[in-house]
Amino acid sequence: MNRLLSRSLTRTPIFAARSPFIPPLRKMATATTPEFNKMLYAPLAEIDPAVQNIIDKETWRQFTGLELIASENLTSRATMEANGSILTNKYSEGLPDHRYYGGNEYIDELEQLCRKRALEAFHLDPAKWGVNVQPYSGSTANFAALTALIQPQDRLMGLGLPDGGHLTHGYYTAKKKMTASSIYFQSFPYGISSDSKLIDYESLSNQAKLFKPRLIICGASAYPRDWDYKALKTVAEREGAWLMADIAHTSGLIAAQQLNNPFEYCDVVTTTTHKTLRGPRAGLIFFRKDLEHAKDLEKRVNDAVFPACQGGPHNNTIAGIATALLQAAQPAFQEYAKQVIKNARSLAEALVAHGYQLQTDGTDNHLVLWDLRHLGLTGSKVEKVCDLMGITINKNAVNGDTSAQTPGGIRLGTSALTSRDMKEEDIKIVADFLHRAVQISLTLQKEAGTKKLVDFVRVATQKEDGKVGFEQVRALRDEVRQFASKWPLPGVDVANLKKPEGLHYE
Ligand SMILES: *Cc1c(COP(=O)(O)O)cnc(C)c1O
Repeated sequence: MNRLLSRSLTRTPIFAARSPFIPPLRKMATATTPEFNKMLYAPLAEIDPAVQNIIDKETWRQFTGLELIASENLTSRATMEANGSILTNKYSEGLPDHRYYGGNEYIDELEQLCRKRALEAFHLDPAKWGVNVQPYSGSTANFAALTALIQPQDRLMGLGLPDGGHLTHGYYTAKKKMTASSIYFQSFPYGISSDSKLIDYESLSNQAKLFKPRLIICGASAYPRDWDYKALKTVAEREGAWLMADIAHTSGLIAAQQLNNPFEYCDVVTTTTHKTLRGPRAGLIFFRKDLEHAKDLEKRVNDAVFPACQGGPHNNTIAGIATALLQAAQPAFQEYAKQVIKNARSLAEALVAHGYQLQTDGTDNHLVLWDLRHLGLTGSKVEKVCDLMGITINKNAVNGDTSAQTPGGIRLGTSALTSRDMKEEDIKIVADFLHRAVQISLTLQKEAGTKKLVDFVRVATQKEDGKVGFEQVRALRDEVRQFASKWPLPGVDVANLKKPEGLHYE
């Protein structure tokens, strides 16, 4: 006791870091803290400048670039605070009030709060729906849901990957079963119509008659239109199959009631929390509690998450989810979701006005699928050029692509730019950057002299006599950076942000 009392109780001054994040107060080591524990109190910038520098460079990249990857978003300062909190220390296997470890009174409170907020954010009646908030991410949520619903080697159907589906919905190639969803289950894809590029519900229904799936999965990673959940429910009911929606991409828009409601028809709904929902990286599984034929669904889902597929939950992440869900339930979030869609439409219109082709000619949600094939360009080349300019996009298959290695399209999304305050008119400027990037890509392809990506990258990154593409890339890059740096970045004090050492570009 005396020893304790005699310890110096002085504290460090407020953590003076190079980090632009506003740091929480840290308790200092006492005077008697042994050498082997002193490291526990040192701020990151001091004890690990290498990692700090990587964080600083990534912060700078996010600040000076334009984030158009459709699956990404910028989470809030509050969510990052929760995510970086002391809750990371606690083990809490099991569910609230049924844990395998002691000391979980506050973790129980947190998980209860998070579950309540999840149901509220999606406008669900707690008598009809329950939710498991422990999945580490979207893929683990999906595998746990499959584990809960069907037996090994049972049949499932999901949207094919080249048509916009996700790996975890049963993807396989001729040579290889690619994910656990095709390794442990028999999977069979449905697709989109080659005319309308919309989900081909009629073919799906016919395929289901033959294949007799135990589970139909809907939801996608690259589908710019909404889903007809009722049509899917009719097929699932006829075949006695479960209907599961994976709303990873669109959950923020669904919570904001800007898209059709999958909860009206589905038995299970999974989602990530870090895409349009704007939370930390994690997953959720919602399940019906009131099904006559499956009164045990709640137990099946919970047992599938733990112990079947996961160990202890990440409580710091669950705190971040809870905070993000609080935000998602507010009227302001509905305005955000509306703006995301307006921005995606604005982007689509601007590209069409430039004469480009979009799959389905437009969008109902946050994403646009841009078909470049008629220009004789691949998605990889445009992705590469955009990367050199700080515009982050991804190559993506478009309907009818023959090679999965060199997809002919680009996927764009407006969630992150909308989180940086951009509106339709600002998105028009971004669309203009994209237009110029494509025109420069055409020049570079000509100057490369071949269609090989290495030659293309060479002329884009090295100055060669008589060639103009290289200079054009740099000019547009400077304009993009200047434009991007005008906007705020959630969680970062950009007014005091300093350019870090070691960036890959000047
Ligand atoms: C992103 C995504 C996932 C996977 O999420 P991770 O968190 O990356 O595991 C699952 N399903 C769909 C439809 C997705 O778009």
